[in-house]
Amino acid sequence: MKKGTIALIAHDSKKDELVEFVAQNRAWFIGFSLVGTGTTGGRIAEQGIDIECLASGPLGGDAQIAARITEGNVHAVIFFRDPMGKHPHEPDINMLLRQCDVHNIPLATNLATAQLLTANQAFKRG
Ligand code: PGA
Repeated sequence: MKKGTIALIAHDSKKDELVEFVAQNRAWFIGFSLVGTGTTGGRIAEQGIDIECLASGPLGGDAQIAARITEGNVHAVIFFRDPMGKHPHEPDINMLLRQCDVHNIPLATNLATAQLLTANQAFKRG
């Protein structure tokens, strides 16, 4: 039985980093249901890892994940953001980040925090 649902998102310059992180921690990730924005999810699926792929971020994927948080169906978010770029879907991104705070959902926006999340007892497979 899966322990909950984790949402995975990475901006283009961060996709390789996220895919590598998920591949390195495959045993941990497969303990959860995974959902991702379209392109990120597709990249993770290429690793042979089961993941539900939503719309691509600029087409509303971040908004879909925000809605799932609101509905109580996402339990942690790993979102490797590009801190240098501008994004046409900035309002959707901000909505997603805000919904994490509204619903007290763990949100890792960089590798160091994602490593802490995967090491945390509360999120251990069991
Ligand atoms: P993508 O979306 O995984 O479809 O690239 C991520 C984003 O840009 O928010």
